[in-house]
Amino acid sequence: MSWEENVRKTVPYVPGEQPKIENIIKLNTNENPYPPAPGVQKALEELKEGYDILRKYPAPACDILEEVLSDYYGLPREQLFVGVGSDDVLSMAFLAFFHGEKPVLFPDITYSFYDVWAEVYGIPYKTVPLTGEFEINADDYDIPNGGIVIANPNAPTGIAKPGEWMDEFISRHRDVVVIVDEAYVDFGGETCIPLIEKYDNLLVTQTFSKSRSLAGLRIGMAFGSRKLIGYLKDVKFSVNSYTMNTPSLVLGRESVLDEAYFREKVDAVIKTREWTKKELKELGFTMTESSTNFLFVSHPQKNAEEIMKRLRDEGIIVRHFKKPRIDNYLRISIGTDEEMKKLVSVLKNIL
Ligand SMILES: *Cc1c(COP(=O)(O)O)cnc(C)c1O
Repeated sequence: MSWEENVRKTVPYVPGEQPKIENIIKLNTNENPYPPAPGVQKALEELKEGYDILRKYPAPACDILEEVLSDYYGLPREQLFVGVGSDDVLSMAFLAFFHGEKPVLFPDITYSFYDVWAEVYGIPYKTVPLTGEFEINADDYDIPNGGIVIANPNAPTGIAKPGEWMDEFISRHRDVVVIVDEAYVDFGGETCIPLIEKYDNLLVTQTFSKSRSLAGLRIGMAFGSRKLIGYLKDVKFSVNSYTMNTPSLVLGRESVLDEAYFREKVDAVIKTREWTKKELKELGFTMTESSTNFLFVSHPQKNAEEIMKRLRDEGIIVRHFKKPRIDNYLRISIGTDEEMKKLVSVLKNIL
């Protein structure tokens, strides 16, 4: 017998590339083009002086960050959870909440980490096809299931469902945990956080990676009923008590404290998105209605993969998914005005 027989074999998630080439325009991983809040930079400098904090373990309950989040969202800490990016939060949630025999449901086109977690934890799952317009059809989820995961707005389609729709949808699924992944909600979606009071089986996750320009810090969070968050924390403390490092807690806190800066930069991204949308439509692109910091576009005359390669030659990186139904689409993150102007002019040449 070989030792390899006992190895857990998994097919990992493939994140967007982080190229080492200089001077590229990077529009492939939905990072925010603006720097994090000035307070974050200041706290970073102070950390250099007070580096003794690194000697000690962080507070495992993540007090520094949870306290400001509790004020910001007006929720007790018992209804909050923080983790190492929402990937960590979602992975823990899969482990905690999907322990049954019936399949967990999520759309066929959505964040491509969901099936990876289901596979690695041995969770049965079933994908539910989006409609031809990439919309979720609520009735399709009225089948026996052990849980539901919805990204709202969805990725990579960018389409958001209104709060009222989500309310009605969750009301139909009171017997399983429903996870709503709101990674992009700040760019135009409607949050389901208020619904956690109504539905004790609802878990809402968000992240600092996109709207707060802190993808490198790795901070994600979840909101839910006391019971739900209690179960999630039990799993976390059974896997790793110290997921969050002290610098992340300290710097993340500063981001939350600067609401004006946060709004200003989110608005700037939305404004640039609307401008880019108009320009790309003029070039003949079709696209979904984006409530996010990216556009999901297709060109009726030109192959998406080909456009992606040509853009790359010109130093612009966008995301192409070699997957059924969406292989003629590109997902283009919203950069600065300047970056998007360059993108439009290069696309003009390519077409
Ligand atoms: C980016 C993203 C995440 C993960 O973000 P983190 O950086 O791990 O917080 C989760 N879900 C969706 C849909 C995303 O696009």
